[in-house]
Amino acid sequence: MIIRARTRNTRTALTLLAAATLSLTACTASPAPAPHQRPAALKDRNPAAARQAPPTLAPGPQGLTPVFTSAPRAVQAPRGAAKAAPTVALTFDADMTADQGRRAAAGEHFDNPPLVDTLRRLKVPATFFMTGRWAEQYPAQTRDIGRDPLFEVANHSYSHYAFTPRCYGLPTVAPHRMRAEVERAFTALRESGVERPVPYFRFPGGCYDQRALRAIAPAGVTAVQWDVVGGDAFAKDPDAVARQVLQGVRPGSVVVLHCTRSAAPATERAVRTIVPALRERGFRFVRVSEQIGAARGARDARRDGARPAGARPDGAWPDDTRASGTRPDGARPDDNGASGTRPDGARPDDTGASGARPEDTRASGSRPDGPRAAGAAPN
Ligand SMILES: [Zn+2]
Repeated sequence: MIIRARTRNTRTALTLLAAATLSLTACTASPAPAPHQRPAALKDRNPAAARQAPPTLAPGPQGLTPVFTSAPRAVQAPRGAAKAAPTVALTFDADMTADQGRRAAAGEHFDNPPLVDTLRRLKVPATFFMTGRWAEQYPAQTRDIGRDPLFEVANHSYSHYAFTPRCYGLPTVAPHRMRAEVERAFTALRESGVERPVPYFRFPGGCYDQRALRAIAPAGVTAVQWDVVGGDAFAKDPDAVARQVLQGVRPGSVVVLHCTRSAAPATERAVRTIVPALRERGFRFVRVSEQIGAARGARDARRDGARPAGARPDGAWPDDTRASGTRPDGARPDDNGASGTRPDGARPDDTGASGARPEDTRASGSRPDGPRAAGAAPN
């Protein structure tokens, strides 16, 4: 494993490499608004586009970027209608970092065309979270994925550097550069041919805190975490990855996996097991935008006093998706995810020792990014 390297320079280079690899996004039919155009503002100027703009969550307290982790477990079926099938969103991080250009030039594959082919063959809607650097390295694939109505493309920052200190050894982005990191990635996606990237952002390593949520608020995105770690980063055994996903998925789940052969060579084969198995259980695959739409709808219904299916007598929800920036483990964003210990008990600033990394979720249940409650792991 990379981390074992001895020499200091090699160690730094490898830590960077490890961190980079670790952290390892239907295009709505009508012209969706640029991500920073809040639906509210859009509604006034262009109601049609607002109606079809991908759903976002309302800002959190003090206007912080809202954080989404998973959709409500219980979905209210319209009166008399058959019970709605439970949904699950598979998300794939195409997280090439700003300093991996030379490795790509040397022939390393940070993409995974067979994975995209398999998703198409199995007709699986999915969301790709791309770094701007990945889009620049693979513009044709970016355009191809972005133009396929089966998929949607979201933002995973330009460089895949961390938005908090001590995030798995990843280089960090200065607070005054954080908004630019998000917007530079959107520009790279559009320049590569994604006409309508969806307004969702995944923090590299899953590391965020209140400062980061405030710094990127003007970009008007919804931050998307996960509740199921795929465990595919550096995993060689697809069955172990499939087992981890199948054990973790619940109605409304968001699963984090990777779209990079370099750091996640088993993902495509694991998907071939995961998809039929979850369909067998009655799950319907959706893009993140549909999960967020469901969460928003559920929250609006709650606000209007409707009691959803499964709601407790006190009206509380079976599982509150905490759109207000509080993570399921109740920790506040400024806990930087550090509050929740991940499956392997490690903390975000625990990069090197065990050689494990944020998204370095070994299929043995080790970690992705962040606390289990919030669905740690790689990103
Ligand atoms: Zn990542």
